[in-house]
Amino acid sequence: MLRVVVLGAAAGGGVPQWNCGCQVCRRARTEQPELQSTQASIAVSADGDHWFLINASPDLRQQLIATPQLHPKAGKLRHSPISGVILTNGEIDAVAGLLSMREGWPFTVYAHAKVLSILTTNSIFNVLNERDVKRQPIEVDATFEPALPDGSPAGIEILPFAVPGKGAWYLEGKVHPGGNDGAGDTLGLRIGDKATGKYFYFLAACARVTDDLKSRLAGASLIFFDGTVWRDDELIVAGLGDKTGQGMGHIAMSGDRGAIESLAGLDIDRKMFLHINNSNPALLRDSAERKVAEHAGWQIPADGTEITL
Ligand SMILES: [Zn+2]
Repeated sequence: MLRVVVLGAAAGGGVPQWNCGCQVCRRARTEQPELQSTQASIAVSADGDHWFLINASPDLRQQLIATPQLHPKAGKLRHSPISGVILTNGEIDAVAGLLSMREGWPFTVYAHAKVLSILTTNSIFNVLNERDVKRQPIEVDATFEPALPDGSPAGIEILPFAVPGKGAWYLEGKVHPGGNDGAGDTLGLRIGDKATGKYFYFLAACARVTDDLKSRLAGASLIFFDGTVWRDDELIVAGLGDKTGQGMGHIAMSGDRGAIESLAGLDIDRKMFLHINNSNPALLRDSAERKVAEHAGWQIPADGTEITL
């Protein structure tokens, strides 16, 4: 049985974002604290004792405090159920949490060579001592099985695949330390339980839904999918910024080529949006946009939501 915990569902900045006075952020600070959400990450386990994080958000410390499944085992002086972290991209909201795991607990970071090159060339990540924290390259279209601390297989099979997207924002217009060409900047993951054969998909960033992606996701029992913006130009229209969703490598929820329309009718049991920006009106439970998303079978999970499959 696979256990999955949503540690956070928000995009970069979280909800509320420290410097934002938009409608969602204001309500989250005042009359609707239930809107508060930390930056996107999930944890997955096949045995309930050992867990793997998918991305390490800047809110990781807060997420670990809030998640009993990830607390140290009773009676142990030093312990963490976390055996590894799998990175799907090199954005701040996917890697910064690694800096909150520097207290000498052994674990393995699994990432594509392009993302590992970002960690290698930023000396601040050397705080993760090589002796304790192994860095394991993963390849596009090559299944891997993360390891438990004793080296035995975790019982979880992960297939990384390339997804339309962009390199990390802070590298825009710069020389990527891992090279400016090729796949690896944005990965989707198919995560499966070896014992039961059940699986789900994780795509916290995706710029568009291709026919290939549609056939891959068809029939899945669960997907977590990029829900950054409701419409492509919403940051501009709201006066919050000058970037479009596409400009940041993110598909919109709505519209002809949006996630809701593109992924309709694919026989997916459970569809959850993740990486939702605080500008997105679908976060408001009483909004017309939320009703449209829910009517189409999509959920916006609260932090701490646990799913088993
Ligand atoms: Zn806001």
